[in-house]
Amino acid sequence: MHNVVIIGSGCAGNTAAVYTARAGLKPLVIKGWEAGGQLSITSEVENFPGFPNGILGPELVENMKQQAERFGAEYMDGAVSEADLSKRPFRLKVEDQWIETRTLIVASGASARWLDLPSEQKLIGHGVSSCATCDGFFYRDKQIMVVGGGDTAMEEANFLTRFGRNVVLVHRRDSFRASKIMLERAQANPKIEFIMNTAIEEVFDLAQNTVTGVRLKNLVTGETSMRDVDGLFIAIGHIPNTKPFVGQLDLDPDGYIVSHGGARTNIHGVFHAGDVQDRVYRQAITAAGAGCMAAIEAERLLEAEGH
Ligand code: NDP
Repeated sequence: MHNVVIIGSGCAGNTAAVYTARAGLKPLVIKGWEAGGQLSITSEVENFPGFPNGILGPELVENMKQQAERFGAEYMDGAVSEADLSKRPFRLKVEDQWIETRTLIVASGASARWLDLPSEQKLIGHGVSSCATCDGFFYRDKQIMVVGGGDTAMEEANFLTRFGRNVVLVHRRDSFRASKIMLERAQANPKIEFIMNTAIEEVFDLAQNTVTGVRLKNLVTGETSMRDVDGLFIAIGHIPNTKPFVGQLDLDPDGYIVSHGGARTNIHGVFHAGDVQDRVYRQAITAAGAGCMAAIEAERLLEAEGH
């Protein structure tokens, strides 16, 4: 029986682990499929206070983990596939094992959204990627396409010009969601070409098990066209990782946890932290702050209950 189980090992989960470990609660952190969270797939982090020269995302998150371990936090591989939050202790299934805990901090973050085309899905890892920092390196002097119109798409397109012969950014509308500064930076980059009002209909070539091109459709004229591509990067946002909690935790229509004040969820003893609840700020530092809030709430509840 654990005092605190933390689901997720990104900024939010690690910060919750530092705080609950320092409080002597011996937290168990279930790392999740994407250990280290989104920071583990970023390059340079320049906006986390305390690092005047920036720090690499994977290094920052590893530092946090080591800090938590120093105070007695335990980390476990695997992800939660089922949860029973109907009564305390809560029960969580990780692979074949059920884990029991008095309090739970859900810091399971959000994962990349895909176009959900069958051809795209089959070619993930074979030319289709959701992470420029992870996979950009493989497309040196190749033709790269980025899909999306938000800050992530701009950032990835810019980053990928370091590798690709050219980068084509495809967006489904004629205006962008991206912030002015990120958009202007991309527009000023001579290696980026913009294709607007356009969707990807199919990714080729399944027969060769590698990306060779895409069929595009202009959403205004209905015209379709082919385009040669070696690397296709999907940058169309994220989906919160809340599947095991459907029907138990209050979720909004997009699946994000609904906050019941502070770090509280609708279930007494279950707290939220980070991107799994936050669709607005989504920053490393706000996730860390949220992890701290959840830890303090869990700690106070356990203390009040005499644990
Ligand atoms: P956003 O939700 O902001 O943007 C997603 C983009 O993908 C939109 O342009 C959207 O189009 C498009 N899209 C969504 N679904 C589809 C689909 N099925 N097919 C085609 N296009 C689709 O997500 P981001 O990941 O870009 O950004 C998330 C948050 O992170 C934002 O708040 C952003 O500001 C922040 N961020 C900040 C950065 C920085 O400051 N350095 C870097 C990266 C992200 P449409 O516009 O038509 O809806």
